[in-house]
Amino acid sequence: MSILSKFFGSQNSRILKSLEPVVLVINGFEPTISVLSDADLKLKTTEFKKRLTEGSTLDDVLPEAFAVVREAAKRTLGQRHFDVQLMGGVIMHRGGIAEMKTGEGKTLVATLPAYLNALPAQGVHVVTVNDYLSRRDAVWMGQVFSFLGLSVSVLNHAESFLYDPEHTDLDRERDEVGSFKVIHEFLRPATRREAYEADITYGTNTEFGFDYLRDNLEYESVKVRQRVHNYTIVDEIDSILIDEARTPLIISAPTTDSENLYRTFTSISEKMKVEEDYTVDEKYKTISLTDAGISKAEKLLGVDNIYTEKGIKYVHHLETAVRAKANYKKDTDYVVRDNEVVIVDPFTGRLQPGRRWSEGLHQAIESKEGVSVQKESRTFASITYQNYFRLYKKIAGMTGTAATSREEFYKVYGLETFEVPTNKPITRLDKNDLIFQTETGKFKALARSIKVLQKKGQPILIGTVSIEKNEMLSEFLKREGVPHEVLNAKNHEREGEIVAQAGRKGAVTIATNMAGRGVDIKLGGNPSVVEEYEEVKKLGGLFVIGTERHEARRIDNQLRGRSGRQGDPGETQFYVCLEDPLMRVFAKDMIKNMMGRLGISEDQPIENRIISRSLEGAQKRIEGFNFDSRKRVLEFDDVLNFHRKIMYERRRHILEGNFEMISTSLNEVIEGDDKLMGIIEDKKKTLGQESFTLTFKQLLLQTIDMFWIEHLEAMEYVRGSVNLRAYGQRDPLVEYKKEGLHLFKEMERAIDAEVVKLIPSIGGTVSLRQEPHLQEISAKAGEITKENSVIKKGVYDTVGRNDICPCGSGKKFKKCHGK
Ligand code: ADP
Ligand code: MG
Repeated sequence: MSILSKFFGSQNSRILKSLEPVVLVINGFEPTISVLSDADLKLKTTEFKKRLTEGSTLDDVLPEAFAVVREAAKRTLGQRHFDVQLMGGVIMHRGGIAEMKTGEGKTLVATLPAYLNALPAQGVHVVTVNDYLSRRDAVWMGQVFSFLGLSVSVLNHAESFLYDPEHTDLDRERDEVGSFKVIHEFLRPATRREAYEADITYGTNTEFGFDYLRDNLEYESVKVRQRVHNYTIVDEIDSILIDEARTPLIISAPTTDSENLYRTFTSISEKMKVEEDYTVDEKYKTISLTDAGISKAEKLLGVDNIYTEKGIKYVHHLETAVRAKANYKKDTDYVVRDNEVVIVDPFTGRLQPGRRWSEGLHQAIESKEGVSVQKESRTFASITYQNYFRLYKKIAGMTGTAATSREEFYKVYGLETFEVPTNKPITRLDKNDLIFQTETGKFKALARSIKVLQKKGQPILIGTVSIEKNEMLSEFLKREGVPHEVLNAKNHEREGEIVAQAGRKGAVTIATNMAGRGVDIKLGGNPSVVEEYEEVKKLGGLFVIGTERHEARRIDNQLRGRSGRQGDPGETQFYVCLEDPLMRVFAKDMIKNMMGRLGISEDQPIENRIISRSLEGAQKRIEGFNFDSRKRVLEFDDVLNFHRKIMYERRRHILEGNFEMISTSLNEVIEGDDKLMGIIEDKKKTLGQESFTLTFKQLLLQTIDMFWIEHLEAMEYVRGSVNLRAYGQRDPLVEYKKEGLHLFKEMERAIDAEVVKLIPSIGGTVSLRQEPHLQEISAKAGEITKENSVIKKGVYDTVGRNDICPCGSGKKFKKCHGK
């Protein structure tokens, strides 16, 4: 045990100890609460609300409120919160992360802090990893809240629902299968705004995030969806705040004019000569334009000064076109196939269809190769999940696997993680890894062992890293004649129902790591009879097999955790081979030599603790690296976030602003300009006060949006160019901040100037806004890409100690990632 984990360990147990008295107080309420009639129990909600308005705090009412929720769950669901579940509830009420293992009943735990924090009627948002789980949880837990007089809603993609308590006839069925099956009768379609007005709203991070962005693109205040960001409980918080942290939410629309720009700069770049017009840095795949090169480009473009006349966008295009020419070679870095530029993975040589280089580089290469240039899109709004969730007054989280990311949760979000003990002791057996030489050997051996286990009747869940691997294994099993289910995270609802039965005798289920998430696997199936449960228990419980170690230990633990719930028996084992990406990068030679010397055949494993440990060491290192890179993303987004907050606040003010408010802001803009004042007075007379103000409001909003969108674009360019500048020893983040602030001020000035310019045409030629065709992009966390970090690790292999670190920090490698 390291010093650090010892420290956390003791701190953890101290906090848990301090929760024991709270649990005692909650339990103390049980005798009096449990004798109340249903109607009186419901009245407690009104009573708590009243106490809060009279000066009591949420902490004051917590013990009794928790006791009330527990009683309501007993009467509706037939489940009584365990004491450890109460502890989890207190931790989340206090804004912490409760680490509670899979199967500990986190869905039920969340009802405690959700109810309590919904009492002030500002809304509570419960975040789930997919739409299906938000429906499931709302229907399943809705009965508890509804019983106590609170309203519940669900946000799904393009539809929303309110929990509808009628349908008592379906109640029994719901309680029996509610953990995996959504009884849709309990959901009634509703508008987005109605959904947000509910006391408790279930939805995915994507839906909450996009609604926030959409709200800030509205032109009428009645269309705004969200109320305040009061309190959020994030289920599977590691998956949302860590795994998805590098993919921001973006609302964009395609642009039309960029293709020409790429062609123009491609033809300019063709005339550029190396050493004369630009120099090349092979190692970092960058170029620098010389003065001669810039003059040449200016001449070709017919401008005197590209910087002042055309601005940063043109300079960026120019640099990118030259980079495409100088640093990217056809058939080495990419291939051209079916009129498309496809990236080649530098380490494996595999084609990477669908992946694109960013910041216009891909388009520049498409233009260079004469294939059609994919449309660029304009960003209208964007935010990272980190910054979305920071809008809340309080965040809480729960997950089975937080401890290995404790530091990140604390440093990035200020969230503390507490490990809540399991309700019953864990009896699961985690076996040592089996190590094979080749992937084929591994899969052969896997199929054989699965066949044996299945004959015996022990249910098996096999986790893979991708759909491709799922299919591969499925082929091997078919050859062995083993019946099985394959889950690819394509239809969560159906797969949820399948995975719920993965604990049946003889069941074999292959799943990617997102498939069947959040659904409990009960031994003997669900609903199960006692005999079936006992039989599977005797067979050893669920056997979980991992087909590869993931780059983060957390993901491996998630898979393991699916076995051995609530004290059940279970086994887990990972099958790894020297061809796995993680192995390829780390420790391969040593093991290969060893296995070769021993003359082991390809499907014969070795089991070796030292190798397993060194794999874990490799995982830790990659985790550290990924943490750094997410932190970096966030540091950059923080700069933009600062701008976004100011602009959105101003925009919201105007959007919701009344007549006086708008007049005030008008006066601020025109301050002291008598001529303009005169024009405005005239306009007011001819158009009428109200109509003038309304039009002015629209004008203001449109202007803000137009310049904000340009600002987003400019910031993106700066982001790209400061990274190039890093090689000049400057810290790109500092440069980005400096330039960002400058651009921001510029934008503010431009907005005012534009408004002043447009005022005289109000009522005349000011045109109405054209609705752009907006699209929403977020790479849904389908699979966690393993490529990223492995590739980056490769990048570090070739860096000299005194070189600038490729991570973009601007520091020397030996002082940064080479430490
Ligand atoms: P987690 O999200 O922690 O993995 P779930 O919320 O899916 O766990 O719950 C797992 C199972 O445990 C569910 O079938 C649920 O009904 C059951 N469960 C949870 N809490 C209790 C309880 N207090 N009493 C009885 N069953 C419970
Ligand atoms: Mg869960």
